[in-house]
Formats: sequence, structure tokens, C-alpha cells
Amino acid sequence: MKTGKIRGYVLIFRCIKSGNNEVCADYPTEHIIPEERIRDRIYQVRCNSCGWNGDVCGLSAVCVSHTQEPKARAAGQGLGL
Ligand SMILES: [Zn+2]
Repeated sequence: MKTGKIRGYVLIFRCIKSGNNEVCADYPTEHIIPEERIRDRIYQVRCNSCGWNGDVCGLSAVCVSHTQEPKARAAGQGLGL
């Protein structure tokens, strides 16, 4: 059992149409990936604000962060014993 396992990365982009940082892309992986490798890709994205969609390069992302499994799973492990 490993805790804090990475599920993937999330990239945030600025929409070229509405100008909002409402464009998200996922990079699903269970491994730790260098940010420069995540940015060195093209992502198909959609703006949550205005609905624009298209391809964006990871280099233009305003933010790259990783997501982890929720801690609720670890909390429930003691209940079955
Ligand atoms: Zn937009």
C-alpha cells in the first residue's frame, strides 16, 4: 500500500478567446514526470468559460500541478479489520 500516489498532472492554460485561465488538460500517469516533459506536448483542450476548444502546446501552460489519490481511501482501511 502506497499513500500519496500520483494519479497524474493537470495543466492550466489561458484561453485565447476569452482570456480566462479556464482551460484544463490532463496528463494521466502513475509516475513522476519532469515538468519539461509534460510541457513538451500538444494537448486537446476545451475552455470551461466560453467553450472554445483546440490544440495547445504545454509550453504555454500557466500552471502545472499534480493530483493525488484522496486520503479518504487510507482512512477507510481500518474499518474492515
Ligand atoms: Zn474561453
